[in-house]
Amino acid sequence: MSFLIKGVSVLGKGKADLLIRDGVIAEGGAGNAQVIDADGLVALPGLVDLHTHLREPGREDAETVETGSRAAALGGYTAVCAMANTSPVADTAGVVEQVYRLGREAGLVDVQPIGAVTVGLAGERLAELGAMATSAAQVRIFSDDGHCVADPRLMRRALEYVKAFDGVIAQHAEEPRLTEGAQMHEGEVATRLGLTGWPAVAEEAIIARDVLLAEHVGSRLHVCHVSTAGSVEVLRHAKARGVKVTAEVTPHHLLLTDERATSYDPVFKVNPPLRTAADVEALRAALREGVIDIVATDHAPHAVEDKECEWGYARPGMLGLETALSVVLDALGSSAGGAGAGGAGVDWDLIAERMSRAPARIAGLTEHGRDIAPGAPANLTLVDPAARRRIDPGESASRSRNTPYAGMTLPGRVMATFLRGEATVLDGKAVK
Ligand SMILES: [Zn+2]
Repeated sequence: MSFLIKGVSVLGKGKADLLIRDGVIAEGGAGNAQVIDADGLVALPGLVDLHTHLREPGREDAETVETGSRAAALGGYTAVCAMANTSPVADTAGVVEQVYRLGREAGLVDVQPIGAVTVGLAGERLAELGAMATSAAQVRIFSDDGHCVADPRLMRRALEYVKAFDGVIAQHAEEPRLTEGAQMHEGEVATRLGLTGWPAVAEEAIIARDVLLAEHVGSRLHVCHVSTAGSVEVLRHAKARGVKVTAEVTPHHLLLTDERATSYDPVFKVNPPLRTAADVEALRAALREGVIDIVATDHAPHAVEDKECEWGYARPGMLGLETALSVVLDALGSSAGGAGAGGAGVDWDLIAERMSRAPARIAGLTEHGRDIAPGAPANLTLVDPAARRRIDPGESASRSRNTPYAGMTLPGRVMATFLRGEATVLDGKAVK
């Protein structure tokens, strides 16, 4: 199947016709290509998510590799990195190969497994990092996400181990002794609601420790879901020193604040928790500036019984794949610059960098995050910047319904996505 995408806006090139043939961006005659009228649409390299929970194996009632992949494609993604906190945990070559194979079978996005740092995420001894790296899944990123690698000696050894093959340790930065029983951000709102707080310093202290460890070892550190203004300052300092550290922010930490907890609706319960408006402003500025390198969704589907219960019992986490681009457009548009009608004020190059090129570089996914130019793999997405859509959880391709944006109207809509030249989304709908 070949496609001729007519009149689409391409970064740095203005309006152009794009021919997709044999899995790549092609040149020359269109022949019998299917024509897509893309007037008013923007072409971006397919988005890459460094932080996705696909829940398979183990919690297929919440999500599967296939349903999560479909949600990703609908969100404009062509690659996702699947977190290791499945059941069994992805801490062996066998499990990461299983996830990799399921991703290939679904064929909707490239699923790149992340391996656990420690056996069973227990934080006691290193998992088989080398065996996962040399497996068919070729794991490059390791994370105990959901848990912090709290033991500094273990963290140091993990950084040392992955240095040999240019691997990355992705840290869920949370000093566990400072967050025991925590239910939301520690601050004014938590005091008012009488809920135990999760202090900003629990994140900042681990990031400070880990950037020093990464500097000492000379290895690569990636910081998951940065959520506080103080963390931004620690990262700024580390980057100025030349530490090999990268960082991500989630869409929800760019848009929502801890005030949402006053509803007691557990859909707003997430880890790290929603922070203050001042934190949100600092995160937006850090993303624009590059102190935070990428947006990653932390897509965390949960079954109804784990979410529709009292706040204190609910599992933390939110859906993110299908709404990420719209939330980022909204967050970056609502201050400084502004997303004008038709996306006129949007810095598309910044979006492409933070949501595709940089995450692809960090993950070593060389087929993704490429400029849309002849010869490049046809991994791309077409966005309608003028569209606005009301978020209806019932329409989600995810098996779960825990979106915090239900009922909100957000800018931008993914109209088509292509993975190696095959359409996964057309007319805003999943193809298969
Ligand atoms: Zn996490």
